[in-house]
Amino acid sequence: MSNQLIDGFGRHITYVRLSVTDRCDLRCRYCMSEKMQFVPRNELLSLSELADLSAILIGRGVRRIRLTGGEPLVRRNILKLVEDIGAHIGQGLDEVTLTTNGTQLGAMAQPLYDAGVRRVNVSLDSLKPEQFRMITRNGDLAQVLAGLDAAGQAGLKVKINMVALKGMNEDEIEPMLRWCGAQGHELTLIEAMPLGETGEDRTDHYMPLDAVRDTLARQHMLVPTLHRTGGPARYYDVPELGTRIGFITPHSNNFCTGCNRIRITATGTVFGCLGQDQQIDLRDIMRSEGVDGVNRILDAVMIAKPKGHDFDIGTNRPAVARHMSVTGG
Ligand code: SAM
Ligand code: SF4
Repeated sequence: MSNQLIDGFGRHITYVRLSVTDRCDLRCRYCMSEKMQFVPRNELLSLSELADLSAILIGRGVRRIRLTGGEPLVRRNILKLVEDIGAHIGQGLDEVTLTTNGTQLGAMAQPLYDAGVRRVNVSLDSLKPEQFRMITRNGDLAQVLAGLDAAGQAGLKVKINMVALKGMNEDEIEPMLRWCGAQGHELTLIEAMPLGETGEDRTDHYMPLDAVRDTLARQHMLVPTLHRTGGPARYYDVPELGTRIGFITPHSNNFCTGCNRIRITATGTVFGCLGQDQQIDLRDIMRSEGVDGVNRILDAVMIAKPKGHDFDIGTNRPAVARHMSVTGG
């Protein structure tokens, strides 16, 4: 019998997003509330447990692992985990990547490259210092730009993630695309998703990306491409700017039929879907039963993985109570 991870809808799971912490040094308005309560550190999987879990997942056919959070680079000694996972590249694993807010890249870009990372997604919602500070509730744009420079020098390919927010950064989308072209980065635009209470009304800032794409297409030639990165984005080449733009549109374009992923939180809870509450804990079973227990849980996740999300941005009610910082982006 195949040991591959195939769910009840025949979808082959080859991609895992592994959250290594729910903590963060920023407090983006669409992601967290200002006074977030974080999980006590003693409830987290240890770095060696995360490395063991990664090895089991790779043995079950997972080819890509993306570390996320919270902010993955604020987890102490995170480079050790990246090195341990990176050692599987070429032996079942195609790549280890991470999604980061970029604040720690100044010091960490080169060690990440040395550990096997070749590309990173960096979240950046504004190139205006005041606006960046407002959206992140106190972030320092210069620190992130210095991190991006370090990433470039280390040889890391960068994709910028930008959450499109009406009234906050809608005027910066086209300039961000041009800036990405000039810097050699790609850009992915994301629709805000209703995950967790943030103390803000998301319906005020929701922007359907179909309309954004139409506006951009009037300014630049957008050439549809079949380029895929294992994620849900749909891409267009922008030849005149020498870059590519992706759109992640959970509302205006449901992407669930091609879903190839599961998410695991820093405490070892496996989620079959970002937008559903279906979840199975593996930490205690991993500790008491080891590899066999983890495999049993993964099989149960395959049976239970939901068909798709049912986000409804028309209401201000979160689709699920947990924040994006718990399961990672
Ligand atoms: N801290 C890292 C960062 O910001 O890149 C990694 C974790 S963050 C939760 C991952 C991605 O999720 C980021 O690109 C962020 O912009 C996005 N994100 C967070 N909350 C979101 C929400 N409610 N809707 C859509 N995207 C969200
Ligand atoms: Fe932190 Fe990333 Fe959430 Fe912003 S989006 S608060 S950087 S976890």
